[in-house]
Amino acid sequence: MKKLVVAGNIGFCFGVKRTVQTAERLLKKHKRLYSIGDIVHNPLVMENLKSKGLRVVSSEAEVEKGPFIVRSHGIGPATIERLTEKGVEIFDATCPSVKKIQSLIKKLDRERYFIIIIGNENHPEVVALREYGRNTCVSRDGKDMPGGRKREKAAVIGQTTLSFTEYFKSASRFITSPVFAGKTIIYNTICRVTGERQEESAGISREAEAVFVLGGKTSSNTAKLCHNCRRFNKCVFHIENLGELEKVSLKGIRSAGLISGTSTPEDFIFAVKKYMKKKGYGEVQYNEQD
Ligand code: SF4
Repeated sequence: MKKLVVAGNIGFCFGVKRTVQTAERLLKKHKRLYSIGDIVHNPLVMENLKSKGLRVVSSEAEVEKGPFIVRSHGIGPATIERLTEKGVEIFDATCPSVKKIQSLIKKLDRERYFIIIIGNENHPEVVALREYGRNTCVSRDGKDMPGGRKREKAAVIGQTTLSFTEYFKSASRFITSPVFAGKTIIYNTICRVTGERQEESAGISREAEAVFVLGGKTSSNTAKLCHNCRRFNKCVFHIENLGELEKVSLKGIRSAGLISGTSTPEDFIFAVKKYMKKKGYGEVQYNEQD
């Protein structure tokens, strides 16, 4: 019989779940809610919230008085201040793990550390994190490190969705640089959930003949899962909606893996499982297979 190996860690992570539930609750009460940018990187979730009254704008200038939700990636203190001055009612749904990193940067900034953030400079989490320190820079991989005068005290912070291996490889480049030859501390800020999913996705990719990674095309952690899976399996599909899955030929595939990013909703995962069942795939939980 054909089998569908389903990851144990699948669907929303606790941070996304909390943000989406907060948005749902606020929309039920106020019927209207503002956010700067998508609150989570998944079009299915966003369509649903927009249909209930969520208005996604690109800057605080477009936010009118009324409830405003801070997305899971967080926003910078300057933006919060400008919104407060406008009299906007702010509901903070930043993921608690991201919030911890913001506090860490504030503390390091008070202690006069130069802060290096490893990650994607255009990702909303990194854009917001930068605002919490006065002396910061963003590096994608440590190869693009800033030159200039020697930094006496530096701290390295990672975007939560990076892989542990990638992050520590990039961070260690700063330790050996003459610019950072003073005191340089590397903090482990990689989200535990992300790490667990990467580990599980590697195992599933080794075992299954094909892997379906469910999640939004703009979701950083889903893209990283795909990248990780491709290290072990040549047949990996990034699936954002059911229509995309229906186009995939399942001919000759006896075992398929099913994993998801942290902003992929339960009802979509359920629909995928139902579709695969119709195609003859019996569901097996990863780790519980014989
Ligand atoms: S992946 Fe981790 S850091 Fe990101 S929202 Fe989920 S729990 Fe928070």
